[in-house]
Amino acid sequence: MDCLFCKLVAGEIPATVLYEDEHVIAFEDIMPQAPEHFLVIPKKHISTLNDLTDEDIFVMGMLPVVASKVAKQKGIAEDGYRVVMNCNENGGQTVYHIHMHVLAGRQLTWPPG
Ligand code: 5GP
Ligand code: ZN
Repeated sequence: MDCLFCKLVAGEIPATVLYEDEHVIAFEDIMPQAPEHFLVIPKKHISTLNDLTDEDIFVMGMLPVVASKVAKQKGIAEDGYRVVMNCNENGGQTVYHIHMHVLAGRQLTWPPG
């Protein structure tokens, strides 16, 4: 499958991996939008939030658990961070393999742009 994040999961493109288990991998974003910016993804290919099914409930539940584990490891948990999932064009999605952004290290503004 011609999917960037599937290739990353397969080790075909390099990444700075922060966490990995059977179902999930977390890695540094290549174009950080904050001092800390990493992504947490299911290893299974799911294109967008709209493609989720009941089968995905377990792995999707793991994403915020892994996000907070990595945030604690990085020492950003206490100050806080933002978790974002973009869906389709209006959501600003550019990589069509579902991913959770974790942004931290500065005061983030609201509403987002
Ligand atoms: P989206 O815009 O789809 O919500 O987020 C995609 C994210 O993937 C962006 O923040 C972008 O910087 C990141 N990204 C795109 N290509 C790569 C890559 O090859 N490696 C890594 N680590 N991140 C990537
Ligand atoms: Zn994929």
